[in-house]
Amino acid sequence: MRKIDLTNFQVATSETARQINRRIALNFIRRNEPMSRADLARCSGLQRSTVSAIIDQLIDEGWVTEGAIGQALRGRRPRFLHLNVERAGILAVDLRPAITTVGLAGVDARFVEQTSWPTPKDPEVFIRQLARTVTLFRDSHPRIVCEGMGVSVPGRADRSGRLVFAPNLGWGPVDLKRLIEAEIGLPVVLENAANACALAELWFGLHPEHVRHLVAVTVSEGIGVGLLLNGQLVHGGDAMAGEFGHVSVDENGPPCPCGNRGCWERYASNSAALEYYRGDGQDASGARPAMSFPDLLQLAETGDARAIEALERMARFLGIGIAGLITGLAPEAIMIIGEVTAAWNRLGPLVEYVVKKRILPHAATRIVPTVPASQPRLRGAVTLVVQQHFGAPHVA
Ligand SMILES: [Zn+2]
Repeated sequence: MRKIDLTNFQVATSETARQINRRIALNFIRRNEPMSRADLARCSGLQRSTVSAIIDQLIDEGWVTEGAIGQALRGRRPRFLHLNVERAGILAVDLRPAITTVGLAGVDARFVEQTSWPTPKDPEVFIRQLARTVTLFRDSHPRIVCEGMGVSVPGRADRSGRLVFAPNLGWGPVDLKRLIEAEIGLPVVLENAANACALAELWFGLHPEHVRHLVAVTVSEGIGVGLLLNGQLVHGGDAMAGEFGHVSVDENGPPCPCGNRGCWERYASNSAALEYYRGDGQDASGARPAMSFPDLLQLAETGDARAIEALERMARFLGIGIAGLITGLAPEAIMIIGEVTAAWNRLGPLVEYVVKKRILPHAATRIVPTVPASQPRLRGAVTLVVQQHFGAPHVA
């Protein structure tokens, strides 16, 4: 139960009840389509007349379409309701320090188009390039009405959409949401990439409906952690919750772009594995290495002993951090997102072994690698906009 916040509440009106019922109906259709109005009344417990009023409105607004006529044993044959996934075109951006991917999807998070380009060092150049991509997408799909953009960022953005912490990107504080909105003329939602991935798992993942406690760990240049607890993202007082990647595990360890020393991500990220491979162990200058992490995975695949050793060292440190997350937060699942999951056959058992040695005996958290082909970070960016239409309305 949540305590009522007397500084941020909304008294209930008949409109509140209508909004809640509308979202419930929309979610039932999203999950169970095709379904008839009678099915919807049965699953939701809403009156038939209420269901009809809601559906008429959803059809009017283009969210729901009526399709084929179904079978009935007696009486009028029902018409099936479908979610109109083309109702809204959603632009999704996965901003990473080295590469940016932009996609265009419907509300089902299926991409009709996407492209990638190297992330510019200057945020203003980035915004101009993004605007050009958006124009190209809109020109090639004139029938899709874009209604918003979700951006997953390698750092943290505050409530106003200002990038406040992104050490691996090296941009400093920048009013990213406002600047992009001014350039493309659409509303923009900014969220930490790991948070976006956790949301994507909640809305589009394979988990049963009752999973409410998920932790997403993005392993890339750094490590991001997204906390979805009690079905809600945890942002903390200053939007910085989840920065486990910058929890120092050794005060004498290698320096980190965040200013600290010995942060977890300096031991367990892709950059850490590359440093192990190169053998310097001290390079945290943010310089892009000539060899990429996928190159390292490829080398390990061909049996290169040094590459395998570097990856295994990274996996052991991943396990150490994950064990801390499991013991401290007891989530139902920890999702692992990143190129490293492509080598999970080799590294997964090592991570599990390290975790098992450290957690409490009854811990039951599953560690689940995501399939890179499902593009969790980009799908997360879509989810930022999707949840605005399907999420529970704000009530006291
Ligand atoms: Zn750090």
